[in-house]
Amino acid sequence: MIIDGKTRTCGLIGNPVEHTLSPVIHNTLAERLGHHMVYVPFLVEEGRLADAVKGADALNLLGLNVTVPYKSEVIASLRDIDTLAKNIGAVNTLVKTEGGYKGYNTDMEGLYRAMDSEGIRIEGEDIILLGAGGAARAVAYLCASKGAQKVYLLNRTLEKAQTVAGEVNRTIGRDVIVPMTLGDYTKLPDRKFLAIQGTSVGLSPKVEDVVIADQAFYQKIHTGFDLIYSPWETRFMRLVKENGGAAYNGLKMLLYQGIIAYELWNDVQVSEEDAMIVYEKMKAHFI
Ligand code: NAP
Repeated sequence: MIIDGKTRTCGLIGNPVEHTLSPVIHNTLAERLGHHMVYVPFLVEEGRLADAVKGADALNLLGLNVTVPYKSEVIASLRDIDTLAKNIGAVNTLVKTEGGYKGYNTDMEGLYRAMDSEGIRIEGEDIILLGAGGAARAVAYLCASKGAQKVYLLNRTLEKAQTVAGEVNRTIGRDVIVPMTLGDYTKLPDRKFLAIQGTSVGLSPKVEDVVIADQAFYQKIHTGFDLIYSPWETRFMRLVKENGGAAYNGLKMLLYQGIIAYELWNDVQVSEEDAMIVYEKMKAHFI
């Protein structure tokens, strides 16, 4: 890639940022699609987020992704926010507009595209969602807004599950999300579920950790989707497979949230062929 006076810059702000795969997504797409754009990670120290966004605006950066721990905090630094991101309460993509940045949430639509590409349906499904943190909150909103029948939201801290359920149910206007503790899995209805693992348990290097270890739980799962992609196969995924279910990791979610951000910045539609070329490059970091 040639960097010259016309090169536009996008990047990632977060802390930490050194293990990010986002540069692979955006720089590969820019090269393939012939866009004059470069993407770089920026480490933002605690307490400097507002300065970072202001500085990015002053430097005319085209767009930014936002990662942990700033997805909610960044909202205060925006000029405008997309309705979906506002409802979720988290922003992972900033797009430069006249007078500041507009915030979007592409994580949710990214997960939807990832599931769709694997043939996983949400509409009419009974779903188990593990976790009630930032990511799980977006997943709960996704499932409710895409017509899930019921979402059993199991979290270590019941109050957090109750808060997420209350907010999502109010926004959607029906009682879709049912808050429960992790131990309540024994009270789930006697049928098979799509289960989405949205906690940080099992993330590398603690790869043998799993939020529920009981085999009986996994007999209730026909499809398991873990938002984690490092390790490539989590213990949650292994347990789903051992009990006859299909299991997927979160790398395609990461891919598609990036692609949607790229589409917003460059006003283009990325083809599935290009998406899969990027995916293979990302995958090479794991297997
Ligand atoms: P977060 O806001 O910190 O939430 C963490 C969640 O994990 C909470 O529900 C927390 O329960 C639970 N948890 C943590 N330690 C636990 C333990 N020892 N036992 C039981 N539960 C525990 O994190 P997040 O931002 O939502 O991210 C969650 C995961 O999603 C991370 O692994 C992240 O890498 C992944 N993610 C993937 C993508 C992707 O593109 N694939 C995108 C976003 C996030 P409490 O409420 O009880 O504390």
